[in-house]
Formats: sequence, C-alpha cells, structure tokens
Amino acid sequence: MNIILLGPPGAGKGTQARFLCDERDMIQLSTGDMLREAKDSGTEMGKVVAAVMDRGDLVTDEIVIGLIREKLQGNKKGGFIFDGFPRTLAQADALGDLLAEQDEKLDHVIELQVDDDVLVKRIVNRAEEARAAGQTVRADDNEESLRVRLMAYYKQTSPLIGYYHAKGSLTSIDGLGTMDDVKADIAKVLDA
Ligand code: AMP
Repeated sequence: MNIILLGPPGAGKGTQARFLCDERDMIQLSTGDMLREAKDSGTEMGKVVAAVMDRGDLVTDEIVIGLIREKLQGNKKGGFIFDGFPRTLAQADALGDLLAEQDEKLDHVIELQVDDDVLVKRIVNRAEEARAAGQTVRADDNEESLRVRLMAYYKQTSPLIGYYHAKGSLTSIDGLGTMDDVKADIAKVLDA
C-alpha cells in the first residue's frame, strides 16, 4: 500500500508516518528529512538547498523528484508513506508517473486538517522541546520561516487537495485530536 500524508507544516505528518513504519512495516519517504541530511552533510545539493529551506521556501521540483525516484527503486516492504512530498502539482504528476513505472499505484491520500494557530503553537513547542533536550532546533522552526512555509503550503501545495479529490483518492481527517485519535482515524482509512 502506498499513501500520501498531506497537510501543512506541523500537522503531524512525520509523527503519524513513524507510527505507520513501526506498525505496518511501511517506509517513510520524507523529502524534508532527506534534504536536511544533505544540508547537514554538506553535499553539493545540500549547499544549494540550505538557504531556500531556512527561509521556508520550496526547493525545486527537479531536486525532490530526483530524491524520490532514487528511493522508489529500493526495498518496498509494506509500501511507501510519502511525507512532505508531493508539494506541487508538478511533483504530484511526477509521482504518478514514477509509481506507474514501478507497476505501483497510490492507494490513499490522507489530508490532516488543522487550524493555523494550532500549527504555530505546535511548531513553537517543537522548537522549545528540542532546545530543552539539547537537540538542534530546525533552522526553519521560527516564526518568520513558518509564515513563509504556511504561505507556500496554501499557494503551492493545497491545490493538491482538489487534484486528489478529483482522482478519487482523497480522505480528509481531523488532525486536531490526540496522536492516538489521529492514528485511529488513519487506521480506519487504511483498513476500510
Ligand atoms: P519538511 O520537513 O517537510 O517541513 O520540509 C522542510 C523544508 O524542506 C521545506 O520547507 C522545503 O524547503 C523543503 N522541502 C521538503 N519537501 C519538499 C518538497 N516536496 N518540495 C519542495 N521543497 C521541499
């Protein structure tokens, strides 16, 4: 089973993706994690994307599609969870083509719905928790970058809701409940 978790920054996509990996042997493909890794290890690509990411803007379709293409050729285990990808209509089209090349398809697109003020609080908390635990705080977890990230979501990513609705693969669930509530709602969709 291959699924997309769709939603703005702070909606809980990463948390839910990790649950699905543990419990269903699925593979989380987070382009954000892949890009942060490239940035931290200082690869050429990492250097190119660093400033864009810190600002909160999207990196080019070409870069993220390349990252995903590579991963789709590897082990598929219980299927892929796309987390933070696709974020543009061009990425969505490319994903459809890449899956088709592998004789795979998209089974569900699950939209996590949350209010903007909750997102801001969650992201501020995430930064505070990381700071308290002596971990590095994401360079884009600050109010200014968050505003840019939210705008990028509404402008470039939210059209995917209509796109996947039209394709008949979209289910929207309430992302405001507890982690366990959201997890149960996702399980209902996947087990239906
Ligand atoms: P995330 O961890 O998903 O919030 O992503 C962090 C940052 O990485 C985003 O703000 C973008 O700069 C970049 N990024 C991650 N995924 C994508 C994507 N699919 N397309 C473009 N940029 C992305």
